[in-house]
Amino acid sequence: MCACRCGIDVHVRSGRVTYIEGNRDHPVNRGVICAKGAAGIMQVTAPARLRAPLRRVGPRGAGAFEEITWDEALALAVDWLAPIRAKAPEKLAFFTGRDQSQSFTGWWAQMFGTPNFAAHGGFCSVNVAAAGIQTIGGSFWEFGQPDWDRARLVLLFGVAEDHDSNPIKIGLGAMKARGARVVAINPIRTGYNALADDWLGVTPGTDGLLVLALVHELLASGRIDLDYLARFTDAPCLLADGTGPQGGLYLRDEAGKAQVVDRRTGRLAPFDGDGVEPDLGADWPLHRTVFRVLAERYLDPAHAPEAVADRIGVPAARIRALAAELARVAFDEAIVIERPWTDFRGVRHERMVGRPVAVHAMRGIAAHSNGFQTTRSLHLLQILLGAIETPGSLRFKPPYPRPLSAHPVPHFRARPGEPLDGPHLGFVRAPADLALRPDGSPARIDGAFSWEAPFAAHGLMQRVIGNAHAGQPYRIDTLFLYMANMAWNSSMNPAEVARMLTDRDASGDYVIPHVIVSDAYASETVAYADLVLPDTTYLERHDAISLLDRPISRADCAADAIRWPVLEPDRDVRPFQSVLIELGHRLGLPGLVDADGAPAYRDYADYLVRHERRPGIGPLAGWRGDGSQHGRGAPNPGQLARYVGNGSVFTAEIPAEAAFFKP
Ligand code: SF4
Repeated sequence: MCACRCGIDVHVRSGRVTYIEGNRDHPVNRGVICAKGAAGIMQVTAPARLRAPLRRVGPRGAGAFEEITWDEALALAVDWLAPIRAKAPEKLAFFTGRDQSQSFTGWWAQMFGTPNFAAHGGFCSVNVAAAGIQTIGGSFWEFGQPDWDRARLVLLFGVAEDHDSNPIKIGLGAMKARGARVVAINPIRTGYNALADDWLGVTPGTDGLLVLALVHELLASGRIDLDYLARFTDAPCLLADGTGPQGGLYLRDEAGKAQVVDRRTGRLAPFDGDGVEPDLGADWPLHRTVFRVLAERYLDPAHAPEAVADRIGVPAARIRALAAELARVAFDEAIVIERPWTDFRGVRHERMVGRPVAVHAMRGIAAHSNGFQTTRSLHLLQILLGAIETPGSLRFKPPYPRPLSAHPVPHFRARPGEPLDGPHLGFVRAPADLALRPDGSPARIDGAFSWEAPFAAHGLMQRVIGNAHAGQPYRIDTLFLYMANMAWNSSMNPAEVARMLTDRDASGDYVIPHVIVSDAYASETVAYADLVLPDTTYLERHDAISLLDRPISRADCAADAIRWPVLEPDRDVRPFQSVLIELGHRLGLPGLVDADGAPAYRDYADYLVRHERRPGIGPLAGWRGDGSQHGRGAPNPGQLARYVGNGSVFTAEIPAEAAFFKP
């Protein structure tokens, strides 16, 4: 039900849900369920459930609606959306909340042609994920996990009982049972922090100062993993000196490869060349290695524990003690797995050496304006210890790690009657990737990927209504929201949002002319809609947790899953994803109609099985083709039945020799 995405078993008797329990065979929660998950029964009996499509009949926000048929509702939506698409697709702003179908809703918006699509991530913890992908090609939670089975010391930074909650409970339980230590860094000592062996009650927003003080201590004491830094990081890459246009940038060869000095030859070589042995401390005219630059910066006394202790609210002696403990566990309790493996340079290794220090971080470091840089400093700490993708440390979940170069750049150029030329969200690598109009103003209504917010990897949903009302950078026609109560919780100012949604221009029209809301429940935002498309509850529809979206893999296996309906709706409601498919058909969107203009998909379940994003690649990875192919293969009409037969989930084990050091 929440973003942890545990597997559940739902017991139904006489058409009513009687009990919800954890699915013991599910890789995420292995049978564990939280109080909210067990209380999901209340979702399907809630009096707030919407019962039929609604059309506003009074002033916006007055709560006066009339029930209409689905045919009338869809026709009204098409009346508004078709002219927009024909003339200026960017005048549709389509934003979704915490749903599980963003690879589909994003694709739909791409086919419509609007650049204005994102989900709620802009005000969530996406700064942590974006910083992680920029720094190490992955992050915490959906992208990585502590090696719960091997870690001897786990640091929890700003972790409450939120995302990934059941896996954390399982992992901490296992760690405590085998005597491993947990250190919590958090202003308050509740939840997981209460069962930690040690707790540092930092002043809110100062985690980054603490982390860089730990970095200072490790560098000063020489307790860092030089071999790991030289082999598996960019620490030996050469950076240009000075402040000119190239200053601080990699030295690259003609093919664009970052250069290192190869210890075997004393000459320049591409960092990933076959058998190259990078020199961490190399001297090269007018260049220094990344390692030299970072050592100089963080050995600065401004980062010493004594210099920051007062601001952090933790005595310098405790910071030094934590640094010493990190080093002791990482190096004196190193893990060695006798398992041969081959690295990305083709070099064969006889064993896997691990640093059993793991870190997990969440909202506590995200919910600050410095969350992005705090996360980068945290990854620097892990890198110096050799504690990423090694036994006992942070492990990536497939398909991560994915380097920045494997992610798309933002696509944003709207053309009348045409789809967008690629996915909306991605990572800006250079100014040319920014989502700007020819006059330099933002191309998106939320200003994401502009100079103001170049790394807004999931958009900036919280700015949509304000910008649309202000006409910055332009006016829109239709605000289309799904599962997003923006009048209440996403804009931090309900009264002002209500004013903006009801404000009229000089001609007496609403400044935001049309508002369409889809939700399963009445809400503050539904009250301000012109058209309401009632969704089903989560137990009344198909869903997919797709590898095309944010995965539910574990470090040892790639995984995806489905949800299938266990109840028939007792109201005139429809699954939103199936409604989008029908809208796409009525609008004639590419990919949603066939060559004759007929619907490409019957409903969302049909889409899950038959949609191919690329040949052989669909929303679900398991049992493709004749049922024996996984990952890539033709659509299999029996695919959903295979998921149902396997308890909703597909898993593919990672080979043992690839379990760590994934490049
Ligand atoms: S933590 Fe798991 S069981 Fe609890 S609400 Fe979230 S998905 Fe459901």
